[in-house]
Amino acid sequence: MEKELGIYVHIPFCKKRCSYCDFVSYAGKEDKIDQYFKALKNEIETYNLKDYNVTTIYIGGGTPSFVDSKYIKEIIQKINKGAIELTIEVNPGTITKQKIEEYKNCGINRLSIGLQSTNDNLLKEIGRIHTYNEFLNTYKLAKEAGFENINIDLMIGLPNQTIADLKHAINEIKKLEPKHVSVYSLIVEEGTKIEKQLSSGELQLPDDELERQMYWYVKDQLELLGYEHYEISNFAKKGYKSKHNWNCWEQKEYIGLGCAAHSYLNGVRYANTDNLEEYIKQFANIAGVENIGGVKNSEKIERPEEIKDLKEIKNFNKCGRIIEEVQSLEDQKNEYMLLGLRKLEGVNISAFKAKYIENPLYKYRTQLEKLVKYNLIEINGNYIRLTNKGLDFANLVWEEFV
Ligand code: SF4
Repeated sequence: MEKELGIYVHIPFCKKRCSYCDFVSYAGKEDKIDQYFKALKNEIETYNLKDYNVTTIYIGGGTPSFVDSKYIKEIIQKINKGAIELTIEVNPGTITKQKIEEYKNCGINRLSIGLQSTNDNLLKEIGRIHTYNEFLNTYKLAKEAGFENINIDLMIGLPNQTIADLKHAINEIKKLEPKHVSVYSLIVEEGTKIEKQLSSGELQLPDDELERQMYWYVKDQLELLGYEHYEISNFAKKGYKSKHNWNCWEQKEYIGLGCAAHSYLNGVRYANTDNLEEYIKQFANIAGVENIGGVKNSEKIERPEEIKDLKEIKNFNKCGRIIEEVQSLEDQKNEYMLLGLRKLEGVNISAFKAKYIENPLYKYRTQLEKLVKYNLIEINGNYIRLTNKGLDFANLVWEEFV
């Protein structure tokens, strides 16, 4: 039977950098777009995709909607053999009617629109290139093109953001009725523009209590509107959970294509180089090369117990790939717990037992006793899950399984 696989495709180009962003993405390198897609197509050829049942495709970035839609179409045509969910991330500042229609025509069936806020002042402050009205226009074009499955990204914990801003956002969501909403807290990353603005005192973050109030306000309101809170940051109408992300939280396998893309196959986590020029160079002429250090056929990425010489595997650096983690069975079990606890339903005990032939209640009894005692998790029937308090202190819970 063909193995199921998810595919992530990274498009590392943006019109302009947002002030909080530390994703691998480049502004002002439009001259590299054509070469990039040539390299990307060559990289696809280094995998035996016909051996897999590719169930989900996620095109993220960067800003995939920044590049000409002909590139997106070419990539989809190369990798899609009947995936059930095909998502593309869209930035309202880069969209046209023609792009949205082409996405639809090439089989993309889910749009993830980066709105972040419905307040134009906040959008400007964090360096977004679009206004709320431009978002509304994108949303309208998407509906007209026939997109049903639309996600809207929102951010909380922004400098100068108030509960009133979120009330406005929720009212707009109520009118628009997207099938999915993702809510992310601002994370201040080192080296970003916003970090400098905060350390110089130009901007101030809301305190932890207000940030938590924002989270709970959005959660409660979205639930009242009929969204299921199914993962720490994600809410969906019935039947519209993100299948691609869900599979990642279920520890299913995926490959990442493109600069800085990460993959998870056979218990090995590896990544492509995050240097755009290097990526282009590495894949410029590599198409059709057989057996690139175990990458042509992913089965050749050996399991840890079979690894005699790690350097041997690192040969797959011929493709610029970097091994980040070769998981032992123990690592895999811990990660299964960690990922499972991101989901609001929690870790499915019988699924853990079936996968690892071990009872997680027994294996992790010390950690679980402690976390239950502090009311951070609860064990309910077949599930181990975060409590409401655990949602606020999820990092403390995950630490127990690292
Ligand atoms: S559009 Fe997205 S990837 Fe690009 S700079 Fe902004 S947050 Fe980063």
